[in-house]
Order: sequence, then structure tokens, then C-alpha cells
Amino acid sequence: MGEPVLLGMPAPPTSPRGVGNLRGEETFPVAARRALGNAQLRANLGHATHTIRAKRAQVVAEVPGWEALREAGSQLKRHTMANLDTYLIRLEEQVTARGGTVHWAGDAAEANTIVTGLIKSTGNDEVVKVKSMATQEIGLNEHLESQGIAAYETDLAELIVQLGHDLPSHILVPAIHRNRSEIREIFLAEMEDVDPNLTDDPAVLAAAARRHLRRKFLSARVAISGANFGVAETGTLGVVESEGNGRMCLTLPETLITVMGIEKLVPRWSDLEVFLQLLPRSSTGERMNPYTSMWTGVTPGDGPQEFHLVLLDNGRTAVLSDTQGRDALNCIRCSACLNVCPVYERTGGHAYGSVYPGPIGAVLSPQLTGIEDNASLPYASSLCGACYDACPVKIDIPAMLVHLRNAHVEAHRAEHTLPSAEDAIMKAASWVMSNEKRWATAVRSARAGRVLGRRRGVIGPIPLPLAEAWTTARDIPRPPQQSFRDWWTAEHEKGRS
Ligand code: SF4
Repeated sequence: MGEPVLLGMPAPPTSPRGVGNLRGEETFPVAARRALGNAQLRANLGHATHTIRAKRAQVVAEVPGWEALREAGSQLKRHTMANLDTYLIRLEEQVTARGGTVHWAGDAAEANTIVTGLIKSTGNDEVVKVKSMATQEIGLNEHLESQGIAAYETDLAELIVQLGHDLPSHILVPAIHRNRSEIREIFLAEMEDVDPNLTDDPAVLAAAARRHLRRKFLSARVAISGANFGVAETGTLGVVESEGNGRMCLTLPETLITVMGIEKLVPRWSDLEVFLQLLPRSSTGERMNPYTSMWTGVTPGDGPQEFHLVLLDNGRTAVLSDTQGRDALNCIRCSACLNVCPVYERTGGHAYGSVYPGPIGAVLSPQLTGIEDNASLPYASSLCGACYDACPVKIDIPAMLVHLRNAHVEAHRAEHTLPSAEDAIMKAASWVMSNEKRWATAVRSARAGRVLGRRRGVIGPIPLPLAEAWTTARDIPRPPQQSFRDWWTAEHEKGRS
């Protein structure tokens, strides 16, 4: 869903990572360290995520059966994924029967080639686009540019990102890292038809974007969209958005090309009842989204007269084959997990180096690319579980993060002939914790740590070979005067006396 950028926020200087759409060019810790050094960015993200979070909490609390609705969403998605082959064929039959054409794309290159060929066959070299993560994932805009085709983003935040030669940093609010004075500068520099006296008043900026986009809508003959949902039963595609730009793209041009990940299916029309309640509340914190556009094939004399649906795999069937990772495909891209994540809140989306940032990106991107291309992402989490609690389709992201970390460790185990420092520490911990007497001795010895933590109440960096790296980035709580075991023994002795 597109949402107007938060125009009131001050400027964060940012330095997004390259244009790799799924593969990060540097590891998360390196990019996160840079982001953490930007206090302004952290303040902006904190403000934005807390605002959306509060709105979401309020509208979710209004729904008496919210947990039942989440469960329904989860079950529907799991059922769909378990029968994806059947439903995809049904979707193709229905779209074809209603005058559309279905194309199957195994990867990004194939999808880009198909879309480019379709545009060229119309004789046009300009297209308008409604926000689509699938086309960002495959780098469609960059590919079209290399083929001499101009693609204009029409969602306001996406337009700001595109004109600023930037990258989105949030699923729902892609220009969350920009403020209004920056937006004014971008419009003045890049919008060919802009008023030179443009101010940074949000209403003035929005009006400038509206005038600019209206001209594009009226002249474009081809539109490209993604899809929030594809209904197998009827062949209907659906896009939900907040600005009306989607409605313009989906109705005005003569040719409509939709690029949809194969996981966006729902079996029946009636299933939309569940997702159209879950999605707006979880994403923008609205009871319902302002624009829900549905189209089924081609209707003579009404809307686009040529419709193409490109069904994109690009790693999704590989994800489906992992029983512990496949639930990542159930995501409906609401962004609720981003807004509650303490890691995302501090680093922002660019640090993830992938079109899918935040907790869902940390589990989806490594699976789509193969874990080696995004190996640091499953570690970009404190495993606090807030993402699981917020997810409208109950994706257990923390469990998946642990699964992917394990897969990564196992894949590299054979490379290490000698145990690492971490292996040695874990083995020692296992030896101590598996014996009651050893554990009791260790707890008593830990009390010595009270000396180290006496000034700040926490134990800071310990300059010892095995402890330095870990303790430099973390504070250890000062051990209590009395351990739980001591307290328990004392309480029971009191009870007996
Ligand atoms: S994982 Fe869940 S909370 Fe996160 S974007 Fe997807 S559906 Fe929303």
C-alpha cells in the first residue's frame, strides 16, 4: 500500500547501499554501524515507526475477533502454499478465459525480458507504474532504462525515491528517510514541469506531484503494476493503495502489465474478506484502505484492452521446499513487523541491502537468494518476538531466524578444522550447565563480577581474548548479591523453621 511520505520530519543524510535489489553489497553489521551513527535518521525512524505503531494498535483493538482473524489468515495462506500448483493453474485458466494473457517467469532476468518485449510490442517507450515490490525485486526500472524505456513511479513516496535516485527504505513508507525540505530540493532539481517558487509546505509539494503525475497518467499508453492478491477462483487481481494513483494506472492506459509473485494467491473471492480486514489495519493503521482496485481479465470498452499477468518465481519455489522457512511466503507485505522491530527502528531499511527490509526481509531475502548472498541478515535481530506478535498472518519470524542461522552455521561447519572461540565457549557452558554442582559453583563465582559492575551497575567491555568482542557491544547486568538458588534455599529453610 502506498502512503504519503511523512513530510514533517527533519533531514537525515543517508547513504543507501547500491542498487542490488535482493543481494546486499555489504554485510548488515557494516551498513547498520553507519546508520547507527546518524542520530537524525534514528530520530526520524523512531518518530515514524512509533506513530504508525500507535495507529495500528488502536484499530486492531477495535476488532473483537482479531486473533481469530489472524488465525484465519494464517491457515488460508498455509493451505494456499500447500496447494500452490493447483491454484496457479486455476488462476491461469481464469485469467485466460477472461481475455488476459499469463506469462511464467522463472527468475528476474526472464521477467524483465518478458515485460520489455510486451512494452516494445505496443510501440511505446514510456510506462506509468503503481508501487510494486515484485518489480523492485527484479530491478525492472533499471532494466527498462537500459532498453530505452522510461518508467514513471506514481506513488508519491516512490516518486520521491525515484527522482532522488535513491532506494526505498520501508515497505509502506519508502521515503521515510526524507524530509520535506529535501523533497522540495529533489522536485526542483528533477521535476521538469515544476514551479520554480515551490515551497516545502506539504500541501504545495503534494500539489506539485499531483500536477506532474496527472500529465503522465493522461499520456501513458502502458501501465505496470504489482498485485496484493490474485484470486484463483475468478482470475481477479487486486491492488490496495491510499492515493488513487493505482486506480489511474489500472484504468487509463490501453495495456496493463502486472508482475505478481506466485505466492500472492488466495483460493477464493471470499478469502479477500479476511485479508482486506487484516492488511489496512496492520499496515497504515486504517480500518479500510482508501482505494481497493480489482480487475478480471479484459472488459470490452472499459479499462485496459490488453492485460498481461507475469507470474514470478525468482526463488519462491526453493523457499517453498523448506518446511521450516516456507511460511515467509505467507507475508502480505503490511510492514507491521518493521514498525515494531527494535533493530529496524535504529538502523532503517537501507542497512538490510534488500528490497525487503526489517524482520521479514531478514528471513525472506536470504531464502530467495540463497543464504550465502545475505548471510548476515538472519543475525539482524534480537529475537524479541515483537514481529511475531504483530504479524497479521502469524509468521513465526523468530523461529525462522534461528533456523536460518543454524543452516548457515551447518553449511560452514566443514570449513573449520579447529573449533572457533564461540564453539569453545558453548562447549564449556554446556559442560558447566549439565552438572548441578558445577553450575552452583559457577553461579557463586559469578558474584565476583559485582566488583566489575559496581560503578555503572553493568559490566562493560572485558579486555580478555574470548570476551572482548562480545562485551564491547553489550553490557552484562551486574550479578545480584543473592542468586535465585540462594534465595530459594533461604525461603524453604524459613518455611521449615
Ligand atoms: S511478515 Fe507479517 S508483519 Fe511482516 S510484513 Fe509480512 S505480513 Fe506484515
